[in-house]
Amino acid sequence: MKQRVFVTHKLPGKEIDKLKEDFEVDVWSDKDIGRKDLIDKVKGVDGIISLLTEKIDKEVMDAAGENLKVIANYAVGFDNVDCEEADKRKIVVTNTPGVLTESVAEHAIGLMFSVMKRITEGDKFIREGKFAGWEPDLLVGTGVRDKVLGVVGLGRIGRWTVKLANSLGMKVIYHSRTRDEEYEEMEGVVYHSLEQLLEMSDVVSLSVPLHDDTKGMIGKKELKLMKRSAVLINTARGGVVEEKDLIEALKGGVIAGAGLDVFWDESKIPVDLIKLQNVTLTPHIASATIEARLSMAKLAVDSVRSVLLGRMPEMVVNMKK
Ligand code: NAP
Repeated sequence: MKQRVFVTHKLPGKEIDKLKEDFEVDVWSDKDIGRKDLIDKVKGVDGIISLLTEKIDKEVMDAAGENLKVIANYAVGFDNVDCEEADKRKIVVTNTPGVLTESVAEHAIGLMFSVMKRITEGDKFIREGKFAGWEPDLLVGTGVRDKVLGVVGLGRIGRWTVKLANSLGMKVIYHSRTRDEEYEEMEGVVYHSLEQLLEMSDVVSLSVPLHDDTKGMIGKKELKLMKRSAVLINTARGGVVEEKDLIEALKGGVIAGAGLDVFWDESKIPVDLIKLQNVTLTPHIASATIEARLSMAKLAVDSVRSVLLGRMPEMVVNMKK
């Protein structure tokens, strides 16, 4: 009998069709799978391909039962998967790093331009029929050359953001859990504490994973440290920023603007945030290039295939102890 795989959402490309050659694959074909259907569908499966929007916790693993050997998360972030619980059951958890690095870093820079050059504001202005001709002081923004970009989280995405920012003539500083002096030398970036970085930066770009230490990492106190002219970019996870504090800071002029791709509760973006002029909001699409999404599908499928054929895949995020 073929081993069974449940895929919680249709994925781009033909990778799932290839998986069907070796395994019995069930793909959820509606838009979003609800909790009840998820619990029902995973019963007895050997592998799950999940999205970051689904909580893969003890209850789901219990429902799947002892056949479950692999959870391949179709994302770099894996904060939606209870890795400790998976460890206990010797279930391999994998993610899809590397292939969306450039896409997310490009998006961070895109959001920065959008806010500083007031691109989305300008677009809205035209669509609302307000444009009546060129004016010297119409929607005046800020240039990026010689401005200080503070990258928080110098991983794959952080490093590509540094590269892009350097090419724009920005001065780049960073804060990360692990300092890399060789990299500092190579790219001409300077390490600072988070507090110093917030005080010095014209733009702060977040590229840390969401975990216990980064949850609410940027709140009222941190926002107050930032320049009043500064812009916050978040392509990491909504939970890294205290969203209510950010909204207050944006309303009160504590900081000048924000570019956000991720939100605290992505099914319910606060109306107060939507009403703000000085923010650009995108619907968690930083990795949404065709190149990245096809490669993510390949990585997830390869991971499932490896585990079910008895091999250890490349992108394992748990089983570290
Ligand atoms: P990565 O290579 O693992 O980089 C994460 C970096 O953050 C590492 O350098 C890590 O330090 C650092 N870090 C971890 N905890 C920290 C802390 N408490 N304080 C300061 N730095 C800390 O991951 P990545 O591929 O760049 O992805 C980063 C995150 O972006 C993902 O986890 C995901 O949540 C998010 N993401 C979002 C999208 C989107 O569509 N918006 C797409 C992809 C990824 P160490 O070197 O010490 O580990």
